[in-house]
Amino acid sequence: MRLNRAVIVAIDGPAGSGKSTVARSLAERLGFRYLDTGAMYRALTWLALRDGVPLEDGDALARLAHAHPVSFGEDGHVEIAGEDVSAAIREVEIDRSVPVVARHPAVRELMRERQRALGSEGDVVIEGRDIGSVVAPDAEVKVFLVADPEERARRRSGEREGVSGEALAADLRKRDERDAVNTQPAEDAVILDTTDLDIEEVVARVAALVEARAA
Ligand code: C5P
Repeated sequence: MRLNRAVIVAIDGPAGSGKSTVARSLAERLGFRYLDTGAMYRALTWLALRDGVPLEDGDALARLAHAHPVSFGEDGHVEIAGEDVSAAIREVEIDRSVPVVARHPAVRELMRERQRALGSEGDVVIEGRDIGSVVAPDAEVKVFLVADPEERARRRSGEREGVSGEALAADLRKRDERDAVNTQPAEDAVILDTTDLDIEEVVARVAALVEARAA
């Protein structure tokens, strides 16, 4: 698709709503960059656990984040403090700890600043929780994905081997509660229920929104 100006597409929503798959596939289709802001909070959580930084200490976590910015490789791998953490940040232990890290205002401020810098050139799909509402309120396209809890737990079970469906559903509920305050659709976001849609349909709908807004 040929667009005549730099565009930011914000894809927000709770865990298991389809954000990552949709955002990645959409970026590929549009020839845009892809920025996974959840991976940034995950990488910081991984480092805090490795280095024994208390997850309740927002200032210490912000200092850690400042000293060790997360970076993304060309092929999408995630690095922090010189380590490739792409696989490690998808472990259940990180799923469970990351909302505790992500709720500290000092951590969020730093992360949001870096996310804005990484997205500033435009032509980027940014996925997260607060992208359309806080990180990029001027984004040309804002989509907030939702899906039924059962479907979200089912999707997650395909990505987390060795954890029971019940445990995953309970983890999702707890994460929803903890993330709720920072998972709000922007007023002008398009809410899209992905429960009964496949990826191609969701991507096609969002791509149509991008075309309409950027024309
Ligand atoms: O999207 P993902 O599940 O990878 O995000 C991991 C966690 O990072 C979320 O549960 C949430 O606590 C935090 N997060 C956030 N704001 C974002 C992206 C992720 O608070 N923009």
